[in-house]
Amino acid sequence: MIAYDLKCDKEHTFEGWFENAQGYEQQKERSLISCPICGSTAINRAPSTFGIARHRDQAPKNKPQPVQIIQQFIEDNFEDVGTDFAKEALKIHYQAAESRNIRGVSTEQEEEMLRQEGVSFFKMPVLSYSDPDDNN
Ligand SMILES: [Zn+2]
Repeated sequence: MIAYDLKCDKEHTFEGWFENAQGYEQQKERSLISCPICGSTAINRAPSTFGIARHRDQAPKNKPQPVQIIQQFIEDNFEDVGTDFAKEALKIHYQAAESRNIRGVSTEQEEEMLRQEGVSFFKMPVLSYSDPDDNN
């Protein structure tokens, strides 16, 4: 499906959905496209964007995905220690710091060190907050 921004001869703009570009041309030739505001069939494409309909139904934007739920939980319940993660994890491990849940970032070397020290931790992907739909 293609969405076109359309404009009638009275300058009303509206959106029209078509099977493809040919479908639009055919409907336009047969005057099947009419302005929803004034009913005019003198329609032209507005010089603006058009898009291809995406199958968003499978993953509605407002429905949190599992990884987002986990991330939210961690943000709410884990103290952010940033790049001190490995240091803090070790301190907690050796009871040099208050036992608590922490989150942060670590280098591969730090992770390897933590593993060798027997510190349990887990890694999760950091979500990017950019709109995936922007990557056309
Ligand atoms: Zn109109």
